[in-house]
Amino acid sequence: MTQPVERNAAATPPDPDEGGDPACWANRVCPECGRLNDAERPVVCENCGARFE
Ligand SMILES: [Zn+2]
Repeated sequence: MTQPVERNAAATPPDPDEGGDPACWANRVCPECGRLNDAERPVVCENCGARFE
């Protein structure tokens, strides 16, 4: 049996109609102080200086 299982997964794209997209700003929230940084992909927190992954 050789079923293309991967194609099944690709046939179900993530629902873009979830209302809001937390993933687009989640990486800007400081893990230390919780500040939402202005930079799109901050390296260090502009508030406390903690490093982002
Ligand atoms: Zn911080």
